[in-house]
Amino acid sequence: MSNVLVYTLDGKIYINLTNRCTNDCIFCLRKDKSDVKGQELWLDDENSTSSDVIEQYEKIYNEPLTRHASPFTETVFCGYGEPMLKFDELKEVAQYIKNNYPEVKIRVNTNGHANFVYKRNLVPELKGLVDEFSVSLNGATKEEYNELSKPKFDEAYEEVKKFIKACADENISVVASVVEGYKGRNLDLVACEKIAQNLGAKFRVREWIVNGY
Ligand code: SF4
Repeated sequence: MSNVLVYTLDGKIYINLTNRCTNDCIFCLRKDKSDVKGQELWLDDENSTSSDVIEQYEKIYNEPLTRHASPFTETVFCGYGEPMLKFDELKEVAQYIKNNYPEVKIRVNTNGHANFVYKRNLVPELKGLVDEFSVSLNGATKEEYNELSKPKFDEAYEEVKKFIKACADENISVVASVVEGYKGRNLDLVACEKIAQNLGAKFRVREWIVNGY
């Protein structure tokens, strides 16, 4: 079966660039399921190019409107992995969408580690391409973050905050999100919100629910 790089959910187009991630969140959907509403998101390999993604995107975007409630107005880079780990592909696909479908809003759901991984600030390169970042803050302290997100490097929590600020500094809309209530775990939401605000971000609480949607 071919890789599902593009899929739809709740009237939006989602892009599933990679299964790699620098976190191992205890609530990650991937641990329990191999599909999102029947769409298998485990990839056979990590070799997909931006052209592969664009080919699938075109097919879905241009499906007869009778298959959808309304035209697609939002595209989200998300899926079963950290999309910014395929930065070049993400940038090329976002550029393609902006060139061809300027009415489509682009959001990137990210763990906020990419600047650390790539050793440079990638955010300015996405200005004008990405309309909003949603960054997983997942805690008011490093300890809270580490317990939920199990990052693969020690500086992760600080890097997440730096990434959020880098988005705000570029005047790109940024939401700092937390997952609340996973198996009875409760975060200090007041402190999380304050951190988000101080970094220049909006704040969003996602209540944990079985299956994630
Ligand atoms: S950051 Fe996202 S993809 Fe990575 S482990 Fe956490 S929930 Fe899963």
